[in-house]
Amino acid sequence: MKNLPKKSMTVNKKIPLRMCIACRELKEKREMLRIVKNAQGEIFLDFSSKAPGRGAYICNNPDCIKKLRKQRLINRVFSCEVPEEVYARIEEEYFGKKS
Ligand SMILES: [Zn+2]
Repeated sequence: MKNLPKKSMTVNKKIPLRMCIACRELKEKREMLRIVKNAQGEIFLDFSSKAPGRGAYICNNPDCIKKLRKQRLINRVFSCEVPEEVYARIEEEYFGKKS
C-alpha cells in the first residue's frame, strides 16, 4: 500500500473498502471474508456476511487466513484471548469449503 497524503482521507465513496487484518491492504468488501464475534463471544467465519456482532475483515486468500493463526490476529482485533480451537475451526472451515 502506498502512503497517501493525509488530505486524501476521503476514500472512494462508491466502493466500500475494508482493511484486511492480516496484510492490511484495503480491498472491496465483497472480495473479503468477515470474521465475527457475536454477543455470546463466539468467533467464527461469517460466510453469509450477515451474522450479528463485531466484524473484522480478511482477504479471501489462503495466505492471509494462515497468518491469522500464526500471528494470533483475532486476539488483537477483538482484544481478547482466543482459544486455539477457534483458529483451528476457522482454518478448517475455510480450507474445507475451498476443496
Ligand atoms: Zn489480506
